[in-house]
Amino acid sequence: MRLGPTGISVTPAQRYESAAGSRWPVSIMPAPGELLSSWLHRLAYANGVPPRYFGAFLGAPGENWSARLDRALPDRILHLLREHTRIPLEDIAALTVALDPLARLRLPLRPGPQPICAPGMQATWLQFCPACLAEDETPYFRRGWSLATRVSCFRHGCRLRDRCPSCGRGLAPFRQKRLVPHQICAVCGAALCKRTRPATDGVRRLERLIDDLLRLHAAGHRIGEGRSLPDLLGSASFQSGEKRVSIARLPHRDRYQLFGQLTEGRSIPFGKRKSPAISCWKRVAQAAPTWRGLAISFSEAALPRPAAEPCSASAGPHLADLVQAATRLHQKRQAL
Ligand SMILES: [Zn+2]
Ligand SMILES: [Zn+2]
Repeated sequence: MRLGPTGISVTPAQRYESAAGSRWPVSIMPAPGELLSSWLHRLAYANGVPPRYFGAFLGAPGENWSARLDRALPDRILHLLREHTRIPLEDIAALTVALDPLARLRLPLRPGPQPICAPGMQATWLQFCPACLAEDETPYFRRGWSLATRVSCFRHGCRLRDRCPSCGRGLAPFRQKRLVPHQICAVCGAALCKRTRPATDGVRRLERLIDDLLRLHAAGHRIGEGRSLPDLLGSASFQSGEKRVSIARLPHRDRYQLFGQLTEGRSIPFGKRKSPAISCWKRVAQAAPTWRGLAISFSEAALPRPAAEPCSASAGPHLADLVQAATRLHQKRQAL
């Protein structure tokens, strides 16, 4: 728009596409360990499109569209995302859990609407740590939270959640029709970051051992006789009410309880029939109490020990040391 001798003249602005190309207005880089669906929801929100309609735009309409793309991302959509975000194909593909060596232990995605499941009774497709969501600069959902063998947060030591703390429904950010970030429940609108109770030390040790073993498996290490650890862990059946189901079919509450039973030596709902899968669970549970973590074990075995034992991160200063330091400070001030 400019003022000329004959008055105001209006000139159409350059079309957005010719100025910016095919790139979407707002770029969002995936966060470390982020799940594809989480990144897609953030991308949609940042560019002003509610997630429900973003799926249709990508050519993946319908219920659970983003969670389905986590498990199978068609080349057509992969290239479309690459074209509009300029993020390399391999970086986008790495956000999925497709071609997954741990597939047997991933939480299940039902074909129908996820939130319809009875509150508290069934496994959901994704868990989360409320403390992580509360602390994240931009809250995002991690790939590790889709594993049934994860029940607590390694960072915060608190239990994970697998449903909204307010309405009890599973997460359904792909259904969100309004411009609302995904850390808000798409069903009832409550914040998902309500804190959970801490996990017990025994449960955390068992979970850490299983996680370390699965990392070794994903890195190519195999247990003897050509057996697959995820398949063994995932094929054991646990009694859940009237049914016998695998760990991936249990809601978080039951999986946490199961880990507690395994670590405390209480009766375990394996049923009567013995199998290699049940033996595997029992062996892992027996080894867990003395397990300190792969990183610690590796550093103790391979790296030189420090001359003096470092202070424990949890140990506070001794009161006597503090009093002595305060006395010395006071004496110095008086001497000045
Ligand atoms: Zn956390
Ligand atoms: Zn809710």
